[in-house]
Amino acid sequence: MSREGVTPQSEDFSAWYNELVVRAQLVDRGPVRGTMVIRPYGYRVWELLQADLDRRIKDAGHDNACFPMFIPESYLKREAEHVEGFSPELAVVTIAGGKQLEEPLVVRPTSETVIGEYMAKWIDSHRDLPLLLNQWANVVRWEMRPRMFLRTTEFLWQEGHTAHIDEADAMRETMWALDAYASVARELAAMPVIAGEKTPGERFAGAVRTYTIEGMMRDGRALQAGTSHYLGTNFAKAFEIQYQDEDKNLTLAHTTSWGMSTRMIGGVIMTHGDDKGLVLPPRLAPHQVVIVPIGRKEQGEQAAAEARRLAGAIKAMGIRVHVDDNRPQLSPGFKFNEWEMRGVPIRIELGMRDIENGVATLARRLPTVEGQGKEQIPLEKVPELLPGILSDFQSFLLARAEAFREDHTAKVATWDEFSAQVAGGWARAFHCGRTECEDEIKADTSATPRVIPMDAPEETGTCVKCDQPSAYGKRVIFGRAY
Ligand SMILES: [Zn+2]
Repeated sequence: MSREGVTPQSEDFSAWYNELVVRAQLVDRGPVRGTMVIRPYGYRVWELLQADLDRRIKDAGHDNACFPMFIPESYLKREAEHVEGFSPELAVVTIAGGKQLEEPLVVRPTSETVIGEYMAKWIDSHRDLPLLLNQWANVVRWEMRPRMFLRTTEFLWQEGHTAHIDEADAMRETMWALDAYASVARELAAMPVIAGEKTPGERFAGAVRTYTIEGMMRDGRALQAGTSHYLGTNFAKAFEIQYQDEDKNLTLAHTTSWGMSTRMIGGVIMTHGDDKGLVLPPRLAPHQVVIVPIGRKEQGEQAAAEARRLAGAIKAMGIRVHVDDNRPQLSPGFKFNEWEMRGVPIRIELGMRDIENGVATLARRLPTVEGQGKEQIPLEKVPELLPGILSDFQSFLLARAEAFREDHTAKVATWDEFSAQVAGGWARAFHCGRTECEDEIKADTSATPRVIPMDAPEETGTCVKCDQPSAYGKRVIFGRAY
């Protein structure tokens, strides 16, 4: 890694992001345009997120399964809106085993179709419902404008697919998934997301209702960080997912699907990062604490031995700790910068003088109170103090992100206010609900309706663009999005 930093956010946010993901050793560019190699440091972040979300999914009664990545092209064509929505992004295999295939195979962009086919096979009676499935998988959507983690041609995700007896039960499921995503975002990623419904123009291809969680990035743009769809009976009709009710009538099931992906990592980077690099929330940090022993030769070795002893005691507290003790050719200053670049929440510096005085020097990646700098704490107290310090740091990041979002969100009444507000943040505005009006707004400002927030107060007014009556009984959040 070079000694240089990254382009400042204020100068070019996109350059900052593109440089940082590589510098922080999260990813490398893949050999095929738009693909990414997730390096061990980045993959660990994903695993931490995955472990927590997987536990929630299983606790709520879902079972993991794994369906094939090749889907017969005819499956996608059975749901008209679905195939129309996904066609431009499909990768299709036409030759395999040296021969032209009779039917082309789609590399899964999402699995409603193939899972629908098997739901139909596995469901007979109302007693088979609800059927609650999830899969952890890679999917492929050909990207014209790729961006690491945010839009890559291949990415990792989980996709939940469930079938239910009626709309009410399917809607409960849809809202359960949305709530699980909002909790993961807030509690793990320290991303204060806004949950709510998408407008019809922003719905998933084939869904009756789409729900989303939206986070604000530090450039004021929105990131859709997870979506949950009520599919009605659209896929049930296309794939004959039906059951015999108590009176032996054949009835269509109501299905849902919901997904959260490696995109979340991009969200973490852009919610918390700064000009020095990444800032990782402790709950998603591969190393929550890094200890840098200081000193040359024999003194350095003594400090390293003490650092390893301290790391053992910290690890016993259930904390992920790393000792930077095998790179004697690098200066402490270089190491400090590098761990800041890689977003480690807490750094402990340990030199022989500290050890003789029975103290360690602790530095947070960001001060949690104004004016806070490095502090010395008694060496033997370090392990017992760290859980509290890490938990405070996690809460600090969430509060800071929430304050940032509120500072960059405003209610607007006029078109001029709207245009000015969406240039650097979010606008809460009334909208008529017409897709053509959304399109005009997008053409003029690049802003789109992100979410109709669940917790917004009931209000009515006239559309900020066209003056027609508002459609949703509340204000919609508009912003430019990733
Ligand atoms: Zn309008």
